[in-house]
Amino acid sequence: MDSNLKKIITECPKAELHYHIDCISPELFWKFSQRNGIELPIKTLRDAIDFYNFQTLDEFLTIMLTAISSIQTENDFSDMVMDCANDMVTQNIIYREVMFDYTACYGHRGVSLNTVINGFAEGLKLAKKRYENIDIRFIANLDRTASVIDNCNYINKLIKFREEIPLIAVGMDMQEIGHPAHKQADAFALAKEYGFKLTGHVGEVVGPEGIWDALQSIPLDRIDHGVRAVEDDELLKLLAEKQILLTLCPASNISLGVYSSWWEFPIKKLMNSKVKVCINSDDPPCFHYDLTGNLIKIAETFDLSTSEVIELIRNSFIFNFAGNEHLSNVDAWLDKNIAI
Ligand SMILES: [Zn+2]
Repeated sequence: MDSNLKKIITECPKAELHYHIDCISPELFWKFSQRNGIELPIKTLRDAIDFYNFQTLDEFLTIMLTAISSIQTENDFSDMVMDCANDMVTQNIIYREVMFDYTACYGHRGVSLNTVINGFAEGLKLAKKRYENIDIRFIANLDRTASVIDNCNYINKLIKFREEIPLIAVGMDMQEIGHPAHKQADAFALAKEYGFKLTGHVGEVVGPEGIWDALQSIPLDRIDHGVRAVEDDELLKLLAEKQILLTLCPASNISLGVYSSWWEFPIKKLMNSKVKVCINSDDPPCFHYDLTGNLIKIAETFDLSTSEVIELIRNSFIFNFAGNEHLSNVDAWLDKNIAI
Protein backbone atom coordinates (compact mmCIF):
# COMPACT_ATOMS: atom_id res chain seq x y z
CA MET A 1 0.00 0.00 0.00
CA ASP A 2 1.11 3.56 -0.76
CA SER A 3 2.93 4.84 2.35
CA ASN A 4 1.34 8.28 2.04
CA LEU A 5 -2.12 6.71 2.16
CA LYS A 6 -1.20 4.53 5.13
CA LYS A 7 0.06 7.62 6.96
CA ILE A 8 -3.26 9.40 6.35
CA ILE A 9 -5.28 6.43 7.61
CA THR A 10 -3.22 5.80 10.72
CA GLU A 11 -2.20 9.33 11.74
CA CYS A 12 -5.02 11.61 10.61
CA PRO A 13 -7.53 12.49 13.37
CA LYS A 14 -10.58 10.30 12.79
CA ALA A 15 -14.21 9.99 13.89
CA GLU A 16 -16.27 6.83 14.26
CA LEU A 17 -20.07 6.87 14.19
CA HIS A 18 -21.07 3.19 14.36
CA TYR A 19 -19.53 1.46 17.37
CA HIS A 20 -21.36 -0.70 19.93
CA ILE A 21 -19.88 -0.31 23.40
CA ASP A 22 -21.91 -3.34 24.57
CA CYS A 23 -19.66 -5.60 22.50
CA ILE A 24 -16.86 -5.90 25.06
CA SER A 25 -13.40 -7.34 24.42
CA PRO A 26 -12.48 -10.85 25.65
CA GLU A 27 -10.21 -9.11 28.19
CA LEU A 28 -13.14 -7.18 29.70
CA PHE A 29 -15.34 -10.28 29.52
CA TRP A 30 -12.73 -12.18 31.53
CA LYS A 31 -12.20 -9.28 33.98
CA PHE A 32 -15.94 -8.75 34.66
CA SER A 33 -16.62 -12.49 35.00
CA GLN A 34 -13.88 -12.77 37.63
CA ARG A 35 -14.88 -9.58 39.44
CA ASN A 36 -18.60 -10.41 39.51
CA GLY A 37 -18.14 -14.10 40.42
CA ILE A 38 -19.93 -15.41 37.35
CA GLU A 39 -19.79 -19.16 36.62
CA LEU A 40 -18.72 -19.66 33.01
CA PRO A 41 -17.42 -22.47 30.82
CA ILE A 42 -14.09 -20.61 30.60
CA LYS A 43 -11.22 -20.88 33.06
CA THR A 44 -8.58 -18.48 31.69
CA LEU A 45 -8.20 -15.31 29.61
CA ARG A 46 -6.98 -17.55 26.77
CA ASP A 47 -10.31 -19.45 26.97
CA ALA A 48 -12.16 -16.10 26.81
CA ILE A 49 -10.25 -15.12 23.65
CA ASP A 50 -10.93 -18.53 22.05
CA PHE A 51 -14.60 -18.23 23.06
CA TYR A 52 -14.99 -15.31 20.60
CA ASN A 53 -14.57 -17.52 17.52
CA PHE A 54 -17.80 -17.92 15.57
CA GLN A 55 -18.92 -19.21 12.19
CA THR A 56 -22.55 -18.14 11.96
CA LEU A 57 -24.77 -15.22 12.98
CA ASP A 58 -26.44 -17.41 15.62
CA GLU A 59 -23.07 -18.31 17.13
CA PHE A 60 -22.08 -14.62 17.10
CA LEU A 61 -25.25 -13.62 18.97
CA THR A 62 -24.80 -16.41 21.54
CA ILE A 63 -21.20 -15.38 22.19
CA MET A 64 -22.06 -11.71 22.54
CA LEU A 65 -25.03 -12.28 24.84
CA THR A 66 -22.87 -14.51 27.07
CA ALA A 67 -20.11 -11.89 27.18
CA ILE A 68 -22.61 -9.09 27.83
CA SER A 69 -24.13 -11.07 30.73
CA SER A 70 -20.84 -10.50 32.61
CA ILE A 71 -21.53 -6.71 32.65
CA GLN A 72 -23.31 -5.87 35.90
CA THR A 73 -22.02 -2.94 37.95
CA GLU A 74 -21.32 0.78 37.55
CA ASN A 75 -17.64 -0.11 37.68
CA ASP A 76 -18.07 -2.36 34.64
CA PHE A 77 -19.76 0.38 32.61
CA SER A 78 -17.06 2.83 33.65
CA ASP A 79 -14.36 0.39 32.52
CA MET A 80 -16.13 0.00 29.17
CA VAL A 81 -15.91 3.75 28.54
CA MET A 82 -12.25 3.82 29.56
CA ASP A 83 -11.53 0.86 27.25
CA CYS A 84 -13.26 2.79 24.44
CA ALA A 85 -11.20 5.92 25.22
CA ASN A 86 -7.91 3.98 25.29
CA ASP A 87 -8.75 2.50 21.91
CA MET A 88 -9.58 5.93 20.50
CA VAL A 89 -6.21 7.30 21.51
CA THR A 90 -4.42 4.27 20.02
CA GLN A 91 -6.14 4.89 16.66
CA ASN A 92 -6.12 8.72 16.66
CA ILE A 93 -9.90 8.79 16.90
CA ILE A 94 -10.87 12.14 18.38
CA TYR A 95 -14.65 11.78 18.17
CA ARG A 96 -16.80 8.68 18.62
CA GLU A 97 -20.55 8.17 18.81
CA VAL A 98 -21.04 5.14 21.02
CA MET A 99 -24.21 3.03 20.81
CA PHE A 100 -25.70 1.07 23.67
CA ASP A 101 -28.85 -1.06 23.74
CA TYR A 102 -30.14 -0.94 27.31
CA THR A 103 -33.26 -3.07 26.92
CA ALA A 104 -31.73 -5.92 24.94
CA CYS A 105 -28.44 -6.09 26.85
CA TYR A 106 -29.13 -5.03 30.45
CA GLY A 107 -32.73 -4.11 31.33
CA HIS A 108 -34.16 -7.60 30.80
CA ARG A 109 -31.88 -9.04 33.50
CA GLY A 110 -32.51 -6.36 36.08
CA VAL A 111 -29.56 -4.00 35.60
CA SER A 112 -31.03 -0.53 36.23
CA LEU A 113 -30.72 2.36 33.80
CA ASN A 114 -29.20 4.34 36.70
CA THR A 115 -26.37 1.79 36.97
CA VAL A 116 -25.64 1.99 33.25
CA ILE A 117 -25.69 5.78 32.99
CA ASN A 118 -23.85 6.42 36.27
CA GLY A 119 -21.15 3.99 35.13
CA PHE A 120 -20.85 5.67 31.73
CA ALA A 121 -20.69 9.10 33.41
CA GLU A 122 -17.93 7.96 35.77
CA GLY A 123 -16.00 6.43 32.85
CA LEU A 124 -16.30 9.66 30.88
CA LYS A 125 -14.99 11.65 33.84
CA LEU A 126 -11.96 9.38 34.18
CA ALA A 127 -11.34 9.32 30.43
CA LYS A 128 -11.41 13.10 30.19
CA LYS A 129 -8.98 13.34 33.09
CA ARG A 130 -6.55 11.00 31.32
CA TYR A 131 -6.99 12.30 27.77
CA GLU A 132 -7.64 15.88 26.74
CA ASN A 133 -8.56 15.49 23.12
CA ILE A 134 -11.30 12.93 22.92
CA ASP A 135 -15.02 13.54 22.54
CA ILE A 136 -17.46 10.66 23.24
CA ARG A 137 -21.22 10.99 22.70
CA PHE A 138 -23.90 8.34 23.22
CA ILE A 139 -26.64 6.89 21.02
CA ALA A 140 -29.42 4.97 22.81
CA ASN A 141 -30.38 2.11 20.51
CA LEU A 142 -33.92 0.75 20.70
CA ASP A 143 -34.40 -3.01 20.53
CA ARG A 144 -36.51 -3.27 17.38
CA THR A 145 -37.91 -6.65 18.53
CA ALA A 146 -39.47 -4.97 21.61
CA SER A 147 -42.96 -3.45 21.47
CA VAL A 148 -43.23 0.19 20.41
CA ILE A 149 -45.02 0.96 23.70
CA ASP A 150 -42.09 -0.42 25.72
CA ASN A 151 -39.68 1.61 23.57
CA CYS A 152 -41.73 4.80 24.13
CA ASN A 153 -41.63 4.15 27.89
CA TYR A 154 -37.87 3.66 27.65
CA ILE A 155 -37.40 6.97 25.81
CA ASN A 156 -39.47 8.75 28.47
CA LYS A 157 -37.12 7.32 31.13
CA LEU A 158 -34.01 8.28 29.16
CA ILE A 159 -34.78 11.98 29.11
CA LYS A 160 -33.64 12.75 32.64
CA PHE A 161 -30.23 11.20 31.94
CA ARG A 162 -29.33 13.79 29.32
CA GLU A 163 -27.85 15.81 32.17
CA GLU A 164 -25.53 12.95 33.12
CA ILE A 165 -24.02 11.96 29.77
CA PRO A 166 -24.01 13.51 26.28
CA LEU A 167 -26.95 11.52 24.90
CA ILE A 168 -27.45 12.86 21.42
CA ALA A 169 -29.44 10.34 19.39
CA VAL A 170 -31.82 7.41 19.39
CA GLY A 171 -31.03 4.47 17.12
CA MET A 172 -32.31 0.93 16.58
CA ASP A 173 -30.68 -2.49 16.36
CA MET A 174 -31.22 -6.25 16.84
CA GLN A 175 -32.81 -8.67 14.34
CA GLU A 176 -33.87 -6.90 11.16
CA ILE A 177 -35.75 -9.82 9.60
CA GLY A 178 -39.39 -9.81 10.70
CA HIS A 179 -39.05 -6.45 12.46
CA PRO A 180 -39.48 -3.66 9.89
CA ALA A 181 -38.60 -0.15 11.01
CA HIS A 182 -42.11 1.26 10.61
CA LYS A 183 -43.24 -0.70 13.69
CA GLN A 184 -41.10 1.66 15.77
CA ALA A 185 -42.29 4.86 14.04
CA ASP A 186 -44.13 6.19 17.14
CA ALA A 187 -41.05 5.68 19.32
CA PHE A 188 -38.89 7.60 16.86
CA ALA A 189 -41.52 10.37 16.61
CA LEU A 190 -41.36 10.71 20.40
CA ALA A 191 -37.54 10.76 20.34
CA LYS A 192 -37.65 13.51 17.72
CA GLU A 193 -40.06 15.54 19.86
CA TYR A 194 -37.49 15.38 22.64
CA GLY A 195 -34.85 16.72 20.26
CA PHE A 196 -32.84 13.56 19.67
CA LYS A 197 -31.19 12.91 16.32
CA LEU A 198 -32.44 9.70 14.70
CA THR A 199 -30.56 6.78 13.19
CA GLY A 200 -31.19 3.05 12.79
CA HIS A 201 -29.79 -0.25 11.52
CA VAL A 202 -31.50 -1.04 8.22
CA GLY A 203 -30.43 -2.49 4.88
CA GLU A 204 -27.90 -4.90 6.41
CA VAL A 205 -29.57 -8.32 6.33
CA VAL A 206 -32.79 -7.12 4.67
CA GLY A 207 -32.45 -5.59 1.19
CA PRO A 208 -33.49 -2.15 -0.13
CA GLU A 209 -37.13 -2.71 0.90
CA GLY A 210 -36.03 -2.39 4.55
CA ILE A 211 -34.48 1.01 3.83
CA TRP A 212 -37.52 2.24 1.89
CA ASP A 213 -39.74 1.14 4.77
CA ALA A 214 -37.58 3.07 7.26
CA LEU A 215 -37.36 6.25 5.17
CA GLN A 216 -41.10 6.27 4.50
CA SER A 217 -42.04 5.94 8.17
CA ILE A 218 -39.24 7.60 10.17
CA PRO A 219 -37.43 10.93 9.56
CA LEU A 220 -33.99 9.34 9.92
CA ASP A 221 -31.02 11.69 9.96
CA ARG A 222 -28.77 8.85 8.84
CA ILE A 223 -28.70 5.09 8.37
CA ASP A 224 -26.53 2.48 10.06
CA HIS A 225 -25.24 -0.04 7.48
CA GLY A 226 -27.74 0.63 4.68
CA VAL A 227 -25.23 -1.04 2.41
CA ARG A 228 -27.86 -3.00 0.52
CA ALA A 229 -29.22 0.26 -0.91
CA VAL A 230 -26.71 -0.57 -3.61
CA GLU A 231 -29.24 -3.02 -5.09
CA ASP A 232 -31.72 -0.23 -5.96
CA ASP A 233 -30.74 2.65 -8.23
CA GLU A 234 -33.79 4.76 -7.28
CA LEU A 235 -32.88 4.44 -3.64
CA LEU A 236 -29.26 5.40 -4.33
CA LYS A 237 -30.51 8.52 -6.09
CA LEU A 238 -32.71 9.47 -3.15
CA LEU A 239 -29.94 8.90 -0.57
CA ALA A 240 -27.52 10.97 -2.63
CA GLU A 241 -30.04 13.81 -3.10
CA LYS A 242 -30.97 13.94 0.58
CA GLN A 243 -27.35 13.45 1.70
CA ILE A 244 -28.33 10.74 4.16
CA LEU A 245 -25.08 9.23 5.43
CA LEU A 246 -24.64 5.44 5.52
CA THR A 247 -22.37 4.26 8.35
CA LEU A 248 -20.82 1.30 6.56
CA CYS A 249 -19.14 -1.56 8.47
CA PRO A 250 -17.25 -3.71 5.94
CA ALA A 251 -15.54 -6.24 8.25
CA SER A 252 -18.81 -6.78 10.09
CA ASN A 253 -20.69 -7.47 6.83
CA ILE A 254 -18.03 -9.92 5.69
CA SER A 255 -17.82 -11.69 9.07
CA LEU A 256 -21.59 -12.14 9.19
CA GLY A 257 -21.90 -13.25 5.55
CA VAL A 258 -23.70 -10.23 4.05
CA TYR A 259 -20.81 -10.34 1.52
CA SER A 260 -18.60 -13.36 1.00
CA SER A 261 -15.35 -11.42 0.49
CA TRP A 262 -13.85 -7.93 0.71
CA TRP A 263 -13.94 -7.79 -3.09
CA GLU A 264 -17.73 -7.95 -3.03
CA PHE A 265 -18.15 -5.01 -0.68
CA PRO A 266 -19.88 -2.36 -2.85
CA ILE A 267 -18.00 0.73 -1.67
CA LYS A 268 -17.13 1.82 -5.22
CA LYS A 269 -20.69 1.76 -6.51
CA LEU A 270 -21.94 3.64 -3.44
CA MET A 271 -19.27 6.32 -3.77
CA ASN A 272 -19.68 6.58 -7.54
CA SER A 273 -23.43 7.07 -6.98
CA LYS A 274 -22.55 10.10 -4.82
CA VAL A 275 -24.08 8.51 -1.72
CA LYS A 276 -22.41 9.83 1.45
CA VAL A 277 -20.69 6.99 3.29
CA CYS A 278 -18.18 6.56 6.08
CA ILE A 279 -16.32 3.52 7.41
CA ASN A 280 -16.82 2.02 10.89
CA SER A 281 -15.92 -1.04 12.94
CA ASP A 282 -19.36 -1.96 14.45
CA ASP A 283 -18.25 -4.63 16.99
CA PRO A 284 -14.45 -4.72 16.65
CA PRO A 285 -13.71 -7.43 19.28
CA CYS A 286 -15.79 -9.86 17.21
CA PHE A 287 -14.86 -8.82 13.70
CA HIS A 288 -11.11 -8.38 14.21
CA TYR A 289 -10.80 -5.06 12.34
CA ASP A 290 -10.89 -1.73 14.12
CA LEU A 291 -11.68 1.53 12.28
CA THR A 292 -8.08 1.90 11.06
CA GLY A 293 -8.01 -1.76 9.98
CA ASN A 294 -11.27 -1.40 8.05
CA LEU A 295 -10.03 1.73 6.28
CA ILE A 296 -6.70 0.14 5.32
CA LYS A 297 -8.35 -3.03 4.03
CA ILE A 298 -10.92 -1.08 1.98
CA ALA A 299 -8.27 1.27 0.55
CA GLU A 300 -6.02 -1.68 -0.36
CA THR A 301 -8.75 -3.87 -1.83
CA PHE A 302 -10.21 -1.14 -4.04
CA ASP A 303 -7.02 0.79 -4.68
CA LEU A 304 -8.68 3.96 -3.39
CA SER A 305 -7.10 7.29 -4.26
CA THR A 306 -5.86 9.73 -1.61
CA SER A 307 -8.86 11.98 -2.17
CA GLU A 308 -11.30 9.05 -1.81
CA VAL A 309 -9.73 8.07 1.53
CA ILE A 310 -9.85 11.68 2.71
CA GLU A 311 -13.51 11.88 1.68
CA LEU A 312 -14.33 8.81 3.80
CA ILE A 313 -12.52 10.26 6.81
CA ARG A 314 -14.03 13.74 6.42
CA ASN A 315 -17.60 12.39 5.98
CA SER A 316 -17.50 11.09 9.58
CA PHE A 317 -16.85 14.66 10.74
CA ILE A 318 -19.20 16.43 8.35
CA PHE A 319 -22.23 14.22 9.07
CA ASN A 320 -21.83 13.41 12.76
CA PHE A 321 -24.46 14.44 15.29
CA ALA A 322 -22.30 16.99 17.09
CA GLY A 323 -22.16 19.23 14.04
CA ASN A 324 -18.86 19.62 12.29
CA GLU A 325 -17.04 21.15 15.23
CA HIS A 326 -14.00 18.87 14.84
CA LEU A 327 -13.66 19.20 11.08
CA SER A 328 -11.20 22.08 11.29
CA ASN A 329 -8.77 19.87 13.30
CA VAL A 330 -8.83 17.30 10.53
CA ASP A 331 -8.41 19.83 7.76
CA ALA A 332 -5.53 21.48 9.63
CA TRP A 333 -3.82 18.07 9.88
CA LEU A 334 -4.41 17.38 6.18
CA ASP A 335 -3.12 20.83 5.16
CA LYS A 336 0.03 20.28 7.15
CA ASN A 337 0.74 16.69 6.18
CA ILE A 338 -0.67 16.00 2.75
CA ALA A 339 0.20 17.49 -0.59
CA ILE A 340 -2.87 16.85 -2.73
ZN1 LIG B 1 -24.18 -2.05 14.37
